Amino acid sequence: MLEAAQPRHVVVIGASLAGIRTVQGLRSLGFDGRLTLIGAESELPYDRPPLSKQLLAGEWSPDAVDGIRLGTRTELDAQDVALRLGVAAVGLDTDSRQVHLADGTAMSYDVLVVATGAAARPSPWRPVSGVFQLRTLADARALTGRLALGEPVVIVGGGFIGTEVAAAAIGRGCPVTVVDPLPEPMARLVGPEIAGSLVELHRRHGVQTRFGTGVVAIKGRAGALTVELDSGERLIASTAVVGIGSVPATDWLEGSGIELDNGVITDGFLRAVGVQDVYAIGDVARWPHMGRGTEVRAEHWTNAGDQARHVASAIAKGVEEVYQPSDYVWSDQYDWKVNAVGWRDPAGRSIVVGDLEADGRAAVIHADAQGITCGAVTVNWVRALNQARRQLPSGPSAESVADTVRQLL
Ligand SMILES: Cc1cc2nc3c(=O)[nH]c(=O)nc-3n(C[C@H](O)[C@H](O)[C@H](O)COP(=O)(O)OP(=O)(O)OC[C@H]3O[C@@H](n4cnc5c(N)ncnc54)[C@H](O)[C@@H]3O)c2cc1C
Repeated sequence: MLEAAQPRHVVVIGASLAGIRTVQGLRSLGFDGRLTLIGAESELPYDRPPLSKQLLAGEWSPDAVDGIRLGTRTELDAQDVALRLGVAAVGLDTDSRQVHLADGTAMSYDVLVVATGAAARPSPWRPVSGVFQLRTLADARALTGRLALGEPVVIVGGGFIGTEVAAAAIGRGCPVTVVDPLPEPMARLVGPEIAGSLVELHRRHGVQTRFGTGVVAIKGRAGALTVELDSGERLIASTAVVGIGSVPATDWLEGSGIELDNGVITDGFLRAVGVQDVYAIGDVARWPHMGRGTEVRAEHWTNAGDQARHVASAIAKGVEEVYQPSDYVWSDQYDWKVNAVGWRDPAGRSIVVGDLEADGRAAVIHADAQGITCGAVTVNWVRALNQARRQLPSGPSAESVADTVRQLL
C-alpha cells in the first residue's frame, strides 16, 4: 500500500461509464479538488448495454433515452464537475502535464485518468451504403431505423454484439443471417458445453447461420446488398451489421511515453506504465490479472465501473491497492439470461449442472488445471451464479461448487 496527498486537479478523458463513475466516485469519497470530465461525444454520458437490447428491440424509443443516462448536467454541476463534451483529446504531454484537445486548447492536470474505452473495429467492407456498426447511441439510432423496415439483415460476427443484434432484428420481423468464420462462434460466449443450445435457440427464433465461412466482400447499397462468402455463397440483404470486435481508443496517446499494446498497459494499481500520475481504466486498459496470470483488457460493464471506483478511491484517499476484478459479465439473448463470473482455464475442465433443454436452465462450473474453481457460466439461473460467485474467493474444488449448485435444482 502506498500513500500520497490529494491532487489539486484531476482530469478524466472519456465521458462514458468509466469516466463518469470516476468523477462520481471521487466526489462521494470527499475529493474536493478541481475535477474535469472531457468526452469526444456530444451526448451526456450514457449506458451502452441497452443499445443492443431495449433500444434495438424497440422497447425504448431511441429519442427518449433518459433511462440510459449515467448522469445529468444538473447532477454534475451540483458535484462541481466541469463537463466538456464534443471535444476529443488529441495529444498528451506528460512532461508539462497537459492534454491537448481537438479545439486547439490544452488542459493541465495533476492526475489524469484515461477512460477513452474502445471503438467498433472498422468494417473492412465499405459498399456505397448499408453497412452498420454498433458502439454509440448514434449507431443505435441509425440501426434501429433500418431494423424497423423488417427487411433482410446479414450480421457479420457471432459475438455478444452480433448475437444480441440478431435477437433484436428477429424481434423486429427482419429475416436474419449470422456469418462467422469460426465453426462455433457462440462457444466464446457461453463455452462449448452450451454453445449448441444457444445456436439452437437462435435457429428456433428463425436466425439462419453460416458458420465456418468468412465474408469476402459486401457490394451494393442499403436496400440492395450482396454479401459474398468464401464458400462461394452470395447472401442478399437490405442491411449488413458488422460486429467484429473493438479497438481501444489510444491513437491520441501515441508518442506520449505511455506504453501501448492493444490498450494502455497498466500496473496492478491501474497506473499507466511509463509515466507518472496517469491511470487507465475500463475498456481501454490492459492490466495484469492476478488470477489468470496474464494481462487482460476486459470489455465489460462491471469491470469499467469497478475500475473507476478503484481509481477514485486511490486518488481520493491517497492509498494505492492492487485491483481485484469481479470478472462478471452478462448477455441477454431472447428470453435467455446468460451470466458469467471468473474465467475458463484452457488447461482445466468444466462440469455441467442441470439440463438446459429439459429445465430451461443450466450452470457450467470451470476448474483450473489443479481442479480449483476459477469461473462459472449460467443460463437463466442467477441463484446458481450467485452461489458460485460467493464461493469463488475461498478457492474450493469445482466438484464441491457443482454439488452446492446441484442442491438448488
Ligand atoms: C452495444 C453494446 C452492448 C453492450 N452490452 C454489454 C453487456 O450486456 N454486458 C456487459 O458486461 N458489457 C456490455 N457492453 C460493454 C460495456 O458497455 C463497456 O464495457 C463499457 O461501456 C466500457 O466503458 P468505458 O467507459 O471504459 O468505455 P466506453 O463506453 O467505450 O466509453 C469511452 C468514451 O470515451 C470517449 N472517447 C474516446 N476517445 C476519446 C478522446 N480521444 N477524447 C475524449 N473522449 C474520447 C468515447 O467517445 C466514449 O464516449 C456493451 C457494449 C456495447 C457497445
